[in-house]
Amino acid sequence: MNRPPFPAAPGRVLFSAGVIAARLDTLAAELTAFYREKPLTVLPILNGSLPFAADLLRRIPLPLHLECLSVASYHGAAQSSGTVTFRQHTLPPVADRDVLLLDDILDTGRTLHAVRQRLLAEAAPRSVRVAVLLRKNKLRAEPMEADYAGFDIADEFVIGYGLDYEGRYRNLPELRVITPPC
Ligand code: 5GP
Ligand code: MG
Repeated sequence: MNRPPFPAAPGRVLFSAGVIAARLDTLAAELTAFYREKPLTVLPILNGSLPFAADLLRRIPLPLHLECLSVASYHGAAQSSGTVTFRQHTLPPVADRDVLLLDDILDTGRTLHAVRQRLLAEAAPRSVRVAVLLRKNKLRAEPMEADYAGFDIADEFVIGYGLDYEGRYRNLPELRVITPPC
């Protein structure tokens, strides 16, 4: 592909685009084996998981359904706000489906915990599992763990490949570590 170069981004590269792609190959193979013969609905949590979801889904050759949820929890700052806001009134139709929630990063666990609780309480899925691109090594604020994680990382602030700092950098092809404010 003939892409224009990105201008210099802050911080240091944590995982290059090539490293991310290689990890998605193995993760997708694991998911494909697990969800074969199951009524799979993949449910990315927007906005941060958009690149992850797009690249992962195209590696899973199953007759899956795709639904999206839009949730805000960070409001552009580098600290979690502690509240999870659903941006839509209705939940996607996942009754009797095996749901795979996708998120960019498992940090405090509040977002995925809130989404999973609400789905289980109101949407009657057959099962709910969770795949995150990044899993921070820290104590969670909620009892929430991922069933699948692309990479385990230290408790640092990451941008790129869907992850933002004050709304920017989601379109970087690689993952970078920064020290806000920057
Ligand atoms: P939670 O704290 O609920 O597990 O994560 C909520 C959200 O906080 C994530 O989906 C992500 O949008 C944001 N977040 C957590 N850690 C980071 C980080 O290191 N970098 C960025 N850009 N966002 C993060
Ligand atoms: Mg975010």
